[in-house]
Amino acid sequence: MAKRKFKAESERLLDIMIHSIYTHKEIFLREIISNASDAVDKLCYKALTDSTVGMSRGDFSIAIKADKENRLLTVSDNGIGMSKEELETNLGTIAKSGSLDFKKNMAQAEGDTLGEGEIDIIGQFGVGFYSAFIVSDRVTVISRTYGSDQAWKWESAGTDGYTITECEKEHAGTDVIMRLREDTEDERYSEFLEEYTLASLVKKYSDYIRYPIKMERTKYRPKEGGEENETETYFETETLNSMVPIWQRNKAEVTEEDLFAFYKEKFYDYENPIKAVQVDAEGSVSYKALLFIPAKTAYDYYTKDFKKGLQLYSSGVMIMDKCEDLLSDHFRFVRGVVDSPDLSLNISRELLQHDRQLKVIAKHIEKKIKNELQSMLKNDREKYEAFYAQFGLQLKYGTVADFGANADTLKDLLLFTSSKDGKLTSLAEYCEHMPEEQKDIYYATGDSVSLIEALPQAEKIREKGFEILYFISEVDEFVAQALRVYDEKAFKSVNKDDLGLETEEEKETLKQKEESFKDLLTFVKETIGDEVKEVKFSNKLHNQPVCLTAEGSLSFEMEKYLKQVQPESGAKAERVLELNPAHPIVTRLDALRGEDGEQAKKHAKLLFRQATLLAGLPIENPAEYSELVFSLM
Ligand code: ADP
Repeated sequence: MAKRKFKAESERLLDIMIHSIYTHKEIFLREIISNASDAVDKLCYKALTDSTVGMSRGDFSIAIKADKENRLLTVSDNGIGMSKEELETNLGTIAKSGSLDFKKNMAQAEGDTLGEGEIDIIGQFGVGFYSAFIVSDRVTVISRTYGSDQAWKWESAGTDGYTITECEKEHAGTDVIMRLREDTEDERYSEFLEEYTLASLVKKYSDYIRYPIKMERTKYRPKEGGEENETETYFETETLNSMVPIWQRNKAEVTEEDLFAFYKEKFYDYENPIKAVQVDAEGSVSYKALLFIPAKTAYDYYTKDFKKGLQLYSSGVMIMDKCEDLLSDHFRFVRGVVDSPDLSLNISRELLQHDRQLKVIAKHIEKKIKNELQSMLKNDREKYEAFYAQFGLQLKYGTVADFGANADTLKDLLLFTSSKDGKLTSLAEYCEHMPEEQKDIYYATGDSVSLIEALPQAEKIREKGFEILYFISEVDEFVAQALRVYDEKAFKSVNKDDLGLETEEEKETLKQKEESFKDLLTFVKETIGDEVKEVKFSNKLHNQPVCLTAEGSLSFEMEKYLKQVQPESGAKAERVLELNPAHPIVTRLDALRGEDGEQAKKHAKLLFRQATLLAGLPIENPAEYSELVFSLM
């Protein structure tokens, strides 16, 4: 029978893996056992809800068998099994479980030895089954899917492809038969045929697996009728794992290290989570949970492909892999498991959504996560900022989503860059720093900190000793809108709002100036035309001659954002050009009007363009702008 080829990417990965110095070869066993356990989960769940399966929980198990003579290591399960098509799709394509842009990542993973970056890649999608090839030169999978009489044999010696043929198998389930590679000077693959090694690996990585992992072990006993000290060997099947899921164990018995190890294995992460939380709740609904905050966003986190959810168990039996209803969208980065004896196994997905118990648990979990984050912010700032660098954007989106429905929950978890020292500040901290005469929370929007710092309007506020929040992210201004106030203080945009910082006297002088320079203002407005709504004098400015502000509800940042996401809307903020009456350039312009009208017009136009640039906006006609500058030089 003709060999079928692996999908191209699979081949490449296999190649890297096989020829690599994989530092933890032993993890292959964990991966294979974990697949077996998943397969048993599926049939066990079916058995619990469908009596025709005719099996009960106690009938399920996983078996390990080592055949030293033939160098074969077999992991068998009596789970759901795979059909021919499933063998083909599940084992013929790699990275099936994720929709990772595989090729893109592969491009970074050049070379035959596995560098750290490459391990990262493999870790990212949990190579699972393919890790068998780390230690084997041939892998045979014999599987019979539940409900079918026909079994199939999938076989592959690695990169050159695989075959699928018909075969016999007594009952549903899967045998994964690995022929271990020959030992080399550096590597003793035969160690994976030693009972002791296998038993300790199971203990180390798979202890919590809920089904017995059985292995026949060699035992010794005094030989009956033999000499003194003479022993004979016999075999006894032993269960290697304790089967108590880690979340069911007493909190005091579980170390952080245990939790981290569990997390990495369960969720295919190669990095420890930032935080692990063990929950043991009793009350109207009892449940146990392990919640993890990953250190990094998953590769697909900010895409549509990412699926949130916690793994849901009912007394140790998994009912759902990703129960979405347990996590609100703003905390969708959290991973973990929830196990409650109060949940019905028979419940369908649709019903689950309306399940009262589930709602109670979800609410409780929400509170728990919030409290954990809040205490991290308070007690371990560095860690929190590391978390925020990864998931801060999510919290901001969460604040804005659903018309700000969750703004209250999230407001104290938000951080913004502050003008004070360029560091991140929470809103509570901002308010603490406010001098008594400051009434509002000031923010300035722009593409970067340096652009905002150059904003003429910001200067005066900083001079007054007021702190400004720098809104660099597109979503920031929408966050301010969703919050409206924090601690009864309104958010005021430095870019557009009338900040009410002027004294009566200042206002009066400004008015007088506007009166006496009325012709100048009209002149500038007429010269620029419809591009500005208004030209006026301003007290905001200090060292700069002009600035551009936005009037109305649409700010420049919103304009830029909308231009990206809805270019067809043509949304444009209304521009107001503000002049500094005390600035020599402005007084000079007024004088120039009388001397050389054409020249004055050019100056007025240039001032407007400069203000546009300072506001971080593009110049609409660069050629015309250059022409203007050249003509003045
Ligand atoms: P993952 O477990 O991350 O999905 P794997 O490469 O380990 O990736 O496995 C691919 C798929 O093959 C699994 O999702 C599962 O559907 C199937 N599979 C693997 N091992 C078994 C098994 N022992 N029994 C049934 N199906 C299995």
